[in-house]
Amino acid sequence: MKRIFFLLSILNILAPALLLAQNPKVDIQEYEFHLKLNDNNDIIEGKTLIDFKYTEGADVLELDFAAEENGKGMQVDKILQNGKRLDFKHSGEKLNISTTAEGEVTIYYHGIPEDGLIISENKYGDRTFFGDNWPNRAHLWLPLIDHPSDKAKVSFHVTAPSKYQVVATGTLQEVTNLDDDNSLYVYASPLELPTKVMVIGVAEFAVQHLGEIAEIPLSSWVYPENKEAGFFDYAQAERILNYFTEKIGPFPFTKLANVQSTTRYGGMENAGNIFYFENSVDGKRTSEFLMAHEIAHQWFGDSASESDWSHLWLSEGFATYFTDLYAEDQYGKSKLNEKLWEERQQVIDFSKTTKTAIIDSSRTDLMELLNPNSYQKGAWVLHMLRRKVGDENFWKAIQQYYQKYKFSNATSADLEVEFEAASGEDLDQFFKQWTTQYGQPKIKYDHKFEDGKWKVTIQQLQKNHFEFPLEFELRFYDHTSKIIEFDITKKKETFEVELQEEPVSISLDPYTNLLFEMGH
Ligand SMILES: [Zn+2]
Repeated sequence: MKRIFFLLSILNILAPALLLAQNPKVDIQEYEFHLKLNDNNDIIEGKTLIDFKYTEGADVLELDFAAEENGKGMQVDKILQNGKRLDFKHSGEKLNISTTAEGEVTIYYHGIPEDGLIISENKYGDRTFFGDNWPNRAHLWLPLIDHPSDKAKVSFHVTAPSKYQVVATGTLQEVTNLDDDNSLYVYASPLELPTKVMVIGVAEFAVQHLGEIAEIPLSSWVYPENKEAGFFDYAQAERILNYFTEKIGPFPFTKLANVQSTTRYGGMENAGNIFYFENSVDGKRTSEFLMAHEIAHQWFGDSASESDWSHLWLSEGFATYFTDLYAEDQYGKSKLNEKLWEERQQVIDFSKTTKTAIIDSSRTDLMELLNPNSYQKGAWVLHMLRRKVGDENFWKAIQQYYQKYKFSNATSADLEVEFEAASGEDLDQFFKQWTTQYGQPKIKYDHKFEDGKWKVTIQQLQKNHFEFPLEFELRFYDHTSKIIEFDITKKKETFEVELQEEPVSISLDPYTNLLFEMGH
Protein backbone atom coordinates (compact mmCIF):
# COMPACT_ATOMS: atom_id res chain seq x y z
CA MET A 1 0.00 0.00 0.00
CA LYS A 2 1.19 3.43 -0.71
CA ARG A 3 1.13 6.72 1.05
CA ILE A 4 0.07 8.72 -1.98
CA PHE A 5 -3.57 7.83 -1.50
CA PHE A 6 -3.41 8.03 2.26
CA LEU A 7 -5.56 11.12 2.73
CA LEU A 8 -7.98 10.07 0.06
CA SER A 9 -8.27 6.67 1.63
CA ILE A 10 -9.36 8.09 4.96
CA LEU A 11 -12.28 9.73 3.24
CA ASN A 12 -13.11 6.56 1.39
CA ILE A 13 -13.28 4.23 4.32
CA LEU A 14 -16.69 2.69 4.52
CA ALA A 15 -15.96 0.20 7.24
CA PRO A 16 -13.35 1.31 9.76
CA ALA A 17 -10.67 -1.32 9.89
CA LEU A 18 -10.94 -2.16 13.53
CA LEU A 19 -8.35 -4.34 15.10
CA LEU A 20 -9.30 -7.98 14.79
CA ALA A 21 -7.57 -10.08 17.37
CA GLN A 22 -5.92 -13.15 16.02
CA ASN A 23 -7.57 -16.40 17.00
CA PRO A 24 -4.95 -18.47 18.84
CA LYS A 25 -7.07 -21.63 18.97
CA VAL A 26 -7.24 -22.19 15.23
CA ASP A 27 -4.63 -22.76 12.56
CA ILE A 28 -5.99 -22.55 9.02
CA GLN A 29 -4.26 -24.91 6.59
CA GLU A 30 -5.97 -24.03 3.35
CA TYR A 31 -8.71 -21.92 1.82
CA GLU A 32 -10.55 -22.88 -1.35
CA PHE A 33 -12.63 -19.90 -2.44
CA HIS A 34 -15.34 -20.38 -5.08
CA LEU A 35 -16.91 -17.14 -6.26
CA LYS A 36 -19.57 -16.39 -8.84
CA LEU A 37 -19.77 -12.85 -10.21
CA ASN A 38 -22.33 -11.35 -12.55
CA ASP A 39 -23.11 -8.16 -14.44
CA ASN A 40 -26.73 -7.72 -13.37
CA ASN A 41 -26.04 -6.80 -9.77
CA ASP A 42 -23.23 -6.69 -7.20
CA ILE A 43 -24.24 -9.87 -5.40
CA ILE A 44 -21.46 -12.42 -5.15
CA GLU A 45 -22.24 -16.08 -4.57
CA GLY A 46 -19.57 -17.82 -2.54
CA LYS A 47 -18.60 -21.26 -1.43
CA THR A 48 -15.52 -21.57 0.75
CA LEU A 49 -13.84 -24.79 1.83
CA ILE A 50 -11.63 -24.31 4.87
CA ASP A 51 -9.18 -26.92 6.07
CA PHE A 52 -8.28 -26.15 9.68
CA LYS A 53 -6.75 -27.49 12.87
CA TYR A 54 -7.46 -26.62 16.47
CA THR A 55 -4.28 -25.76 18.34
CA GLU A 56 -6.09 -26.52 21.58
CA GLY A 57 -9.37 -28.27 22.27
CA ALA A 58 -12.30 -26.20 21.05
CA ASP A 59 -15.89 -26.62 20.00
CA VAL A 60 -16.30 -23.43 18.01
CA LEU A 61 -14.48 -22.47 14.84
CA GLU A 62 -14.41 -18.69 15.02
CA LEU A 63 -13.87 -16.88 11.73
CA ASP A 64 -13.83 -13.25 10.66
CA PHE A 65 -16.70 -12.63 8.25
CA ALA A 66 -18.82 -9.48 7.95
CA ALA A 67 -22.53 -10.19 8.35
CA GLU A 68 -25.17 -8.43 6.31
CA GLU A 69 -26.40 -5.13 7.63
CA ASN A 70 -28.50 -2.58 5.74
CA GLY A 71 -28.28 -4.50 2.49
CA LYS A 72 -24.47 -4.82 2.43
CA GLY A 73 -22.43 -7.68 3.81
CA MET A 74 -22.55 -11.44 3.62
CA GLN A 75 -25.34 -13.85 4.45
CA VAL A 76 -24.46 -17.45 5.23
CA ASP A 77 -26.83 -19.96 3.62
CA LYS A 78 -25.51 -23.17 5.12
CA ILE A 79 -22.36 -24.77 6.49
CA LEU A 80 -21.47 -28.40 5.95
CA GLN A 81 -18.90 -30.75 7.43
CA ASN A 82 -18.70 -34.33 6.20
CA GLY A 83 -22.11 -33.88 4.55
CA LYS A 84 -23.79 -32.74 7.77
CA ARG A 85 -25.13 -29.27 8.49
CA LEU A 86 -23.41 -27.38 11.27
CA ASP A 87 -24.96 -24.79 13.58
CA PHE A 88 -23.51 -21.34 13.38
CA LYS A 89 -23.90 -17.81 14.69
CA HIS A 90 -23.19 -14.96 12.33
CA SER A 91 -23.32 -11.38 13.50
CA GLY A 92 -21.17 -8.31 13.26
CA GLU A 93 -17.71 -9.30 12.08
CA LYS A 94 -17.72 -12.87 13.38
CA LEU A 95 -18.91 -16.23 12.14
CA ASN A 96 -18.92 -18.86 14.90
CA ILE A 97 -19.32 -22.42 13.67
CA SER A 98 -20.12 -25.17 16.16
CA THR A 99 -17.83 -28.12 15.61
CA THR A 100 -15.38 -30.13 17.65
CA ALA A 101 -14.00 -31.88 14.58
CA GLU A 102 -10.99 -30.55 12.73
CA GLY A 103 -10.71 -30.91 8.98
CA GLU A 104 -12.80 -29.34 6.28
CA VAL A 105 -15.89 -27.18 6.55
CA THR A 106 -17.77 -25.75 3.56
CA ILE A 107 -19.49 -22.40 3.89
CA TYR A 108 -22.15 -21.33 1.37
CA TYR A 109 -22.96 -17.64 1.31
CA HIS A 110 -24.00 -14.66 -0.78
CA GLY A 111 -24.19 -10.90 -0.51
CA ILE A 112 -22.99 -7.52 -1.69
CA PRO A 113 -19.52 -6.72 -0.34
CA GLU A 114 -19.48 -3.51 1.62
CA ASP A 115 -15.77 -3.29 0.89
CA GLY A 116 -12.81 -5.64 0.37
CA LEU A 117 -13.96 -6.66 -3.10
CA ILE A 118 -14.36 -3.38 -4.95
CA ILE A 119 -17.03 -3.71 -7.63
CA SER A 120 -17.01 -0.49 -9.59
CA GLU A 121 -16.31 1.15 -12.92
CA ASN A 122 -12.86 2.06 -14.11
CA LYS A 123 -12.02 5.41 -15.64
CA TYR A 124 -13.28 4.20 -19.02
CA GLY A 125 -16.68 3.35 -17.58
CA ASP A 126 -16.07 -0.40 -17.71
CA ARG A 127 -17.12 -2.67 -14.87
CA THR A 128 -14.31 -4.12 -12.76
CA PHE A 129 -13.93 -6.33 -9.67
CA PHE A 130 -10.78 -6.02 -7.58
CA GLY A 131 -9.93 -7.54 -4.23
CA ASP A 132 -8.53 -4.89 -1.90
CA ASN A 133 -7.88 -6.55 1.44
CA TRP A 134 -5.28 -4.55 3.33
CA PRO A 135 -5.16 -4.51 6.28
CA ASN A 136 -8.08 -6.73 7.29
CA ARG A 137 -10.84 -6.19 4.77
CA ALA A 138 -10.67 -9.70 3.30
CA HIS A 139 -13.36 -10.81 5.74
CA LEU A 140 -15.79 -8.37 4.12
CA TRP A 141 -16.10 -10.80 1.19
CA LEU A 142 -14.38 -14.03 2.28
CA PRO A 143 -14.79 -16.10 5.48
CA LEU A 144 -11.33 -16.46 7.02
CA ILE A 145 -9.01 -15.51 9.85
CA ASP A 146 -8.07 -12.00 8.87
CA HIS A 147 -4.68 -11.66 10.51
CA PRO A 148 -1.24 -11.90 8.90
CA SER A 149 0.00 -14.40 11.47
CA ASP A 150 -2.31 -17.20 10.28
CA LYS A 151 -0.99 -17.97 6.83
CA ALA A 152 -2.61 -20.57 4.62
CA LYS A 153 -2.58 -22.09 1.17
CA VAL A 154 -5.22 -20.64 -1.10
CA SER A 155 -7.05 -21.26 -4.36
CA PHE A 156 -9.60 -19.13 -6.18
CA HIS A 157 -12.26 -20.65 -8.44
CA VAL A 158 -13.90 -17.68 -10.11
CA THR A 159 -16.90 -17.86 -12.41
CA ALA A 160 -17.49 -14.61 -14.27
CA PRO A 161 -19.01 -13.35 -17.52
CA SER A 162 -16.78 -14.50 -20.38
CA LYS A 163 -15.91 -11.01 -21.58
CA TYR A 164 -13.67 -10.64 -18.53
CA GLN A 165 -10.26 -12.07 -17.81
CA VAL A 166 -9.46 -13.12 -14.26
CA VAL A 167 -6.15 -12.72 -12.47
CA ALA A 168 -5.75 -14.11 -8.96
CA THR A 169 -3.28 -15.29 -6.37
CA GLY A 170 -1.34 -18.37 -7.42
CA THR A 171 -0.76 -20.22 -10.67
CA LEU A 172 -3.43 -20.39 -13.36
CA GLN A 173 -4.64 -23.98 -13.47
CA GLU A 174 -7.80 -23.91 -15.53
CA VAL A 175 -9.85 -21.75 -17.88
CA THR A 176 -13.17 -23.24 -19.03
CA ASN A 177 -16.07 -21.80 -21.02
CA LEU A 178 -18.96 -23.01 -18.88
CA ASP A 179 -21.79 -21.90 -21.13
CA ASP A 180 -22.48 -19.12 -23.64
CA ASP A 181 -22.03 -16.47 -21.01
CA ASN A 182 -19.64 -17.53 -18.27
CA SER A 183 -16.12 -18.81 -17.81
CA LEU A 184 -14.36 -20.46 -14.90
CA TYR A 185 -10.82 -19.52 -13.91
CA VAL A 186 -8.92 -21.52 -11.29
CA TYR A 187 -5.77 -20.22 -9.61
CA ALA A 188 -3.96 -21.98 -6.77
CA SER A 189 -1.08 -21.12 -4.46
CA PRO A 190 0.61 -24.06 -2.73
CA LEU A 191 2.55 -21.49 -0.68
CA GLU A 192 1.20 -20.17 2.60
CA LEU A 193 0.10 -16.55 2.42
CA PRO A 194 -1.37 -13.90 4.70
CA THR A 195 -4.98 -13.00 3.88
CA LYS A 196 -4.09 -9.34 3.26
CA VAL A 197 -2.47 -10.29 -0.06
CA MET A 198 -4.81 -13.02 -1.43
CA VAL A 199 -7.09 -11.48 -4.07
CA ILE A 200 -8.78 -11.66 -7.45
CA GLY A 201 -8.96 -9.08 -10.24
CA VAL A 202 -11.70 -9.36 -12.86
CA ALA A 203 -11.95 -6.94 -15.77
CA GLU A 204 -11.49 -6.56 -19.49
CA PHE A 205 -7.72 -6.64 -19.82
CA ALA A 206 -4.98 -6.52 -22.40
CA VAL A 207 -2.37 -9.00 -21.18
CA GLN A 208 1.27 -9.15 -22.18
CA HIS A 209 3.40 -12.15 -21.30
CA LEU A 210 7.02 -11.08 -20.98
CA GLY A 211 8.48 -14.54 -20.61
CA GLU A 212 10.47 -15.76 -17.66
CA ILE A 213 12.54 -13.19 -15.82
CA ALA A 214 14.74 -14.58 -13.07
CA GLU A 215 12.86 -17.85 -13.71
CA ILE A 216 9.51 -16.22 -12.91
CA PRO A 217 6.75 -15.76 -15.53
CA LEU A 218 6.26 -11.99 -15.78
CA SER A 219 3.12 -10.40 -17.21
CA SER A 220 1.41 -7.03 -17.53
CA TRP A 221 -2.38 -6.64 -17.22
CA VAL A 222 -3.76 -3.28 -18.29
CA TYR A 223 -7.04 -1.87 -19.51
CA PRO A 224 -7.31 -2.36 -23.29
CA GLU A 225 -7.48 1.42 -23.82
CA ASN A 226 -4.03 1.66 -22.20
CA LYS A 227 -2.46 -1.27 -23.95
CA GLU A 228 0.50 0.44 -25.59
CA ALA A 229 1.40 2.73 -22.69
CA GLY A 230 0.71 0.05 -20.08
CA PHE A 231 2.84 -2.62 -21.71
CA PHE A 232 5.66 -0.09 -22.02
CA ASP A 233 5.38 1.11 -18.41
CA TYR A 234 4.97 -2.24 -16.69
CA ALA A 235 7.85 -3.85 -18.59
CA GLN A 236 10.06 -1.95 -16.13
CA ALA A 237 9.31 -4.77 -13.73
CA GLU A 238 11.96 -6.82 -15.51
CA ARG A 239 14.97 -4.94 -14.20
CA ILE A 240 13.39 -4.48 -10.76
CA LEU A 241 12.72 -8.20 -10.47
CA ASN A 242 16.27 -9.00 -11.56
CA TYR A 243 17.77 -6.57 -9.06
CA PHE A 244 15.85 -7.81 -6.00
CA THR A 245 16.32 -11.46 -6.95
CA GLU A 246 20.06 -10.94 -7.14
CA LYS A 247 20.26 -9.03 -3.85
CA ILE A 248 17.73 -10.85 -1.64
CA GLY A 249 17.13 -14.32 -3.08
CA PRO A 250 14.72 -16.06 -5.47
CA PHE A 251 11.31 -14.44 -6.00
CA PRO A 252 8.89 -16.03 -3.51
CA PHE A 253 5.91 -16.81 -5.74
CA THR A 254 5.13 -18.69 -8.94
CA LYS A 255 4.41 -15.65 -11.09
CA LEU A 256 4.52 -11.88 -11.12
CA ALA A 257 1.60 -10.09 -12.77
CA ASN A 258 1.56 -6.29 -12.68
CA VAL A 259 -2.06 -5.22 -12.86
CA GLN A 260 -3.71 -1.87 -13.57
CA SER A 261 -6.66 -1.69 -11.21
CA THR A 262 -9.40 0.38 -9.69
CA THR A 263 -9.15 0.26 -5.90
CA ARG A 264 -8.29 2.44 -2.97
CA TYR A 265 -4.51 2.42 -2.87
CA GLY A 266 -1.77 3.76 -5.09
CA GLY A 267 -0.36 0.28 -5.17
CA MET A 268 -1.13 -2.91 -3.31
CA GLU A 269 1.44 -5.67 -3.03
CA ASN A 270 -0.90 -8.64 -3.49
CA ALA A 271 1.19 -11.81 -3.66
CA GLY A 272 2.26 -12.55 -7.22
CA ASN A 273 -0.23 -10.07 -8.70
CA ILE A 274 0.35 -6.49 -7.74
CA PHE A 275 -2.52 -4.03 -8.16
CA TYR A 276 -1.57 -0.48 -9.19
CA PHE A 277 -3.87 2.55 -9.40
CA GLU A 278 -5.37 3.41 -12.78
CA ASN A 279 -3.11 6.35 -13.53
CA SER A 280 0.04 4.38 -12.77
CA VAL A 281 -0.01 3.93 -16.54
CA ASP A 282 0.99 7.06 -18.46
CA GLY A 283 3.39 5.81 -21.11
CA LYS A 284 6.23 7.72 -19.42
CA ARG A 285 7.33 5.18 -16.85
CA THR A 286 6.70 7.56 -13.96
CA SER A 287 5.66 4.64 -11.74
CA GLU A 288 9.08 3.01 -11.64
CA PHE A 289 9.60 3.54 -7.91
CA LEU A 290 6.01 2.60 -7.10
CA MET A 291 6.64 -0.68 -8.90
CA ALA A 292 9.92 -1.17 -7.05
CA HIS A 293 8.11 -0.61 -3.74
CA GLU A 294 5.38 -3.15 -4.46
CA ILE A 295 7.78 -5.70 -5.94
CA ALA A 296 10.06 -5.42 -2.88
CA HIS A 297 6.99 -6.25 -0.77
CA GLN A 298 6.80 -9.67 -2.40
CA TRP A 299 9.79 -10.66 -0.27
CA PHE A 300 9.07 -8.37 2.69
CA GLY A 301 5.45 -8.27 3.79
CA ASP A 302 4.04 -11.00 1.58
CA SER A 303 6.56 -13.78 2.18
CA ALA A 304 8.45 -12.69 5.31
CA SER A 305 5.52 -10.98 7.04
CA GLU A 306 5.23 -9.00 10.23
CA SER A 307 3.91 -11.17 13.07
CA ASP A 308 1.54 -8.42 14.10
CA TRP A 309 0.48 -5.00 12.82
CA SER A 310 2.68 -3.21 15.35
CA HIS A 311 5.70 -4.46 13.37
CA LEU A 312 4.38 -3.08 10.09
CA TRP A 313 7.70 -1.39 9.37
CA LEU A 314 9.06 -4.87 8.53
CA SER A 315 6.81 -4.54 5.47
CA GLU A 316 6.65 -0.83 4.72
CA GLY A 317 10.05 0.31 5.94
CA PHE A 318 11.62 -2.51 3.92
CA ALA A 319 9.63 -1.73 0.76
CA THR A 320 10.57 1.95 1.12
CA TYR A 321 14.28 1.34 1.69
CA PHE A 322 14.57 -1.35 -0.94
CA THR A 323 13.14 1.15 -3.41
CA ASP A 324 15.90 3.53 -2.29
CA LEU A 325 18.47 0.79 -2.81
CA TYR A 326 17.08 0.08 -6.27
CA ALA A 327 17.24 3.82 -7.04
CA GLU A 328 20.87 3.90 -5.91
CA ASP A 329 21.69 0.90 -8.08
CA GLN A 330 19.99 2.38 -11.15
CA TYR A 331 20.76 6.08 -10.80
CA GLY A 332 23.65 6.39 -8.38
CA LYS A 333 24.26 7.66 -4.90
CA SER A 334 22.88 11.15 -5.54
CA LYS A 335 19.45 9.61 -6.20
CA LEU A 336 19.68 7.64 -2.98
CA ASN A 337 20.54 10.79 -1.05
CA GLU A 338 17.74 12.73 -2.67
CA LYS A 339 15.24 10.10 -1.54
CA LEU A 340 16.74 9.91 1.96
CA TRP A 341 16.55 13.70 2.41
CA GLU A 342 12.92 13.66 1.43
CA GLU A 343 12.19 10.73 3.73
CA ARG A 344 14.07 12.34 6.62
CA GLN A 345 12.00 15.50 6.29
CA GLN A 346 8.78 13.48 6.31
CA VAL A 347 9.87 11.74 9.51
CA ILE A 348 10.74 15.05 11.17
CA ASP A 349 7.45 16.66 10.12
CA PHE A 350 5.46 13.68 11.40
CA SER A 351 7.29 13.68 14.74
CA LYS A 352 6.10 17.25 15.39
CA THR A 353 2.53 16.06 15.77
CA THR A 354 2.77 12.38 16.68
CA LYS A 355 4.83 11.11 19.58
CA THR A 356 4.79 7.41 18.81
CA ALA A 357 7.54 4.89 18.16
CA ILE A 358 7.90 2.75 15.04
CA ILE A 359 6.70 -0.29 17.00
CA ASP A 360 3.27 0.96 17.90
CA SER A 361 0.70 -1.35 19.43
CA SER A 362 -1.58 1.50 20.51
CA ARG A 363 -3.51 1.73 17.25
CA THR A 364 -7.05 0.47 16.93
CA ASP A 365 -7.52 1.93 13.46
CA LEU A 366 -4.89 0.12 11.43
CA MET A 367 -5.07 2.71 8.65
CA GLU A 368 -3.28 5.06 11.04
CA LEU A 369 -0.24 2.79 10.82
CA LEU A 370 0.19 3.87 7.20
CA ASN A 371 2.31 6.74 8.46
CA PRO A 372 5.89 8.02 8.09
CA ASN A 373 7.08 5.95 11.06
CA SER A 374 6.24 2.69 9.28
CA TYR A 375 7.50 3.86 5.88
CA GLN A 376 10.16 6.56 5.96
CA LYS A 377 11.49 6.09 9.48
CA GLY A 378 11.57 2.34 8.91
CA ALA A 379 13.61 2.99 5.77
CA TRP A 380 15.97 5.22 7.74
CA VAL A 381 16.46 2.55 10.40
CA LEU A 382 17.57 0.14 7.68
CA HIS A 383 19.82 2.79 6.16
CA MET A 384 21.51 3.49 9.50
CA LEU A 385 21.84 -0.24 10.11
CA ARG A 386 23.57 -0.55 6.76
CA ARG A 387 25.98 2.24 7.67
CA LYS A 388 26.57 0.74 11.11
CA VAL A 389 27.38 -2.82 10.03
CA GLY A 390 28.69 -2.10 6.52
CA ASP A 391 27.34 -3.18 3.13
CA GLU A 392 28.62 -6.74 3.26
CA ASN A 393 27.13 -7.52 6.66
CA PHE A 394 23.96 -5.65 5.76
CA TRP A 395 23.26 -7.90 2.78
CA LYS A 396 24.29 -10.98 4.72
CA ALA A 397 21.82 -10.10 7.49
CA ILE A 398 19.05 -9.29 5.00
CA GLN A 399 19.52 -12.60 3.19
CA GLN A 400 19.64 -14.58 6.41
CA TYR A 401 16.58 -12.83 7.80
CA TYR A 402 14.68 -13.51 4.59
CA GLN A 403 15.76 -17.16 4.41
CA LYS A 404 14.70 -17.73 7.99
CA TYR A 405 11.31 -16.00 7.83
CA LYS A 406 10.16 -16.51 4.24
CA PHE A 407 6.57 -17.84 4.15
CA SER A 408 6.52 -17.13 7.86
CA ASN A 409 6.31 -14.24 10.33
CA ALA A 410 8.87 -12.14 12.15
CA THR A 411 9.12 -9.46 14.81
CA SER A 412 11.56 -6.57 15.06
CA ALA A 413 13.51 -8.60 17.64
CA ASP A 414 13.94 -11.38 15.06
CA LEU A 415 15.48 -8.87 12.67
CA GLU A 416 17.85 -7.66 15.38
CA VAL A 417 19.02 -11.23 16.01
CA GLU A 418 19.95 -11.65 12.33
CA PHE A 419 21.81 -8.34 12.19
CA GLU A 420 23.71 -9.19 15.36
CA ALA A 421 24.63 -12.61 14.00
CA ALA A 422 25.84 -11.19 10.69
CA SER A 423 27.82 -8.30 12.19
CA GLY A 424 28.92 -9.67 15.56
CA GLU A 425 27.77 -6.37 17.09
CA ASP A 426 25.46 -5.76 20.02
CA LEU A 427 22.58 -3.81 18.51
CA ASP A 428 20.31 -3.56 21.55
CA GLN A 429 20.75 0.17 22.03
CA PHE A 430 20.35 0.79 18.30
CA PHE A 431 17.06 -1.11 18.01
CA LYS A 432 15.77 0.21 21.30
CA GLN A 433 16.30 3.87 20.52
CA TRP A 434 15.16 3.81 16.91
CA THR A 435 12.19 1.45 17.06
CA THR A 436 10.76 1.72 20.59
CA GLN A 437 10.97 5.42 21.36
CA TYR A 438 9.63 8.38 19.43
CA GLY A 439 11.56 11.14 17.73
CA GLN A 440 15.11 11.58 16.53
CA PRO A 441 18.21 13.50 17.65
CA LYS A 442 17.86 17.27 17.47
CA ILE A 443 21.40 18.53 17.17
CA LYS A 444 22.89 21.91 17.92
CA TYR A 445 26.58 22.61 17.67
CA ASP A 446 28.92 25.53 18.38
CA HIS A 447 32.51 25.57 17.31
CA LYS A 448 35.63 27.69 17.20
CA PHE A 449 39.22 27.39 16.10
CA GLU A 450 41.96 28.41 18.53
CA ASP A 451 45.52 27.38 19.37
CA GLY A 452 45.62 24.95 16.44
CA LYS A 453 42.53 23.16 17.67
CA TRP A 454 39.01 22.91 16.38
CA LYS A 455 36.70 22.82 19.40
CA VAL A 456 33.13 21.74 18.86
CA THR A 457 30.37 21.45 21.44
CA ILE A 458 27.53 19.18 20.42
CA GLN A 459 24.17 19.24 22.16
CA GLN A 460 21.17 16.98 21.80
CA LEU A 461 18.04 19.03 22.40
CA GLN A 462 15.39 16.30 22.12
CA LYS A 463 13.87 14.57 25.15
CA ASN A 464 14.77 10.94 24.44
CA HIS A 465 18.23 9.43 24.70
CA PHE A 466 20.10 8.63 21.48
CA GLU A 467 23.61 7.37 20.78
CA PHE A 468 25.02 7.67 17.29
CA PRO A 469 28.09 8.42 15.19
CA LEU A 470 28.11 12.00 13.91
CA GLU A 471 30.19 13.10 10.96
CA PHE A 472 31.42 16.55 10.03
CA GLU A 473 33.07 17.56 6.82
CA LEU A 474 35.62 20.35 7.26
CA ARG A 475 36.70 22.17 4.11
CA PHE A 476 39.84 24.25 3.87
CA TYR A 477 41.06 27.21 1.88
CA ASP A 478 43.06 25.03 -0.53
CA HIS A 479 39.91 23.00 -1.42
CA THR A 480 40.99 20.00 0.58
CA SER A 481 38.57 18.53 3.08
CA LYS A 482 38.54 16.22 6.05
CA ILE A 483 35.87 13.99 7.58
CA ILE A 484 35.73 13.87 11.35
CA GLU A 485 33.49 11.45 13.20
CA PHE A 486 32.43 11.63 16.85
CA ASP A 487 30.62 9.01 18.88
CA ILE A 488 27.82 10.88 20.54
CA THR A 489 26.51 9.35 23.74
CA LYS A 490 25.74 12.38 25.91
CA LYS A 491 23.29 15.24 25.83
CA LYS A 492 26.17 17.72 25.70
CA GLU A 493 29.80 17.12 24.96
CA THR A 494 32.84 19.09 23.75
CA PHE A 495 35.44 17.60 21.41
CA GLU A 496 38.81 18.97 20.34
CA VAL A 497 40.57 18.12 17.11
CA GLU A 498 44.06 19.29 16.18
CA LEU A 499 44.13 21.01 12.80
CA GLN A 500 46.80 22.76 10.76
CA GLU A 501 44.46 25.58 9.81
CA GLU A 502 40.99 26.89 10.38
CA PRO A 503 38.30 25.32 8.20
CA VAL A 504 36.52 27.72 5.84
CA SER A 505 33.28 25.77 5.95
CA ILE A 506 31.70 22.93 7.86
CA SER A 507 28.85 20.60 7.08
CA LEU A 508 27.09 18.14 9.30
CA ASP A 509 26.35 14.60 8.12
CA PRO A 510 27.87 15.09 4.65
CA TYR A 511 27.06 11.54 3.50
CA THR A 512 23.43 11.49 4.68
CA ASN A 513 24.04 8.78 7.25
CA LEU A 514 21.99 9.97 10.21
CA LEU A 515 18.33 10.57 10.92
CA PHE A 516 18.39 13.86 12.81
CA GLU A 517 17.08 17.40 12.76
CA MET A 518 18.91 20.65 13.28
CA GLY A 519 18.35 22.46 16.56
CA HIS A 520 18.80 26.16 17.13
ZN1 LIG B 1 3.91 -0.65 0.83
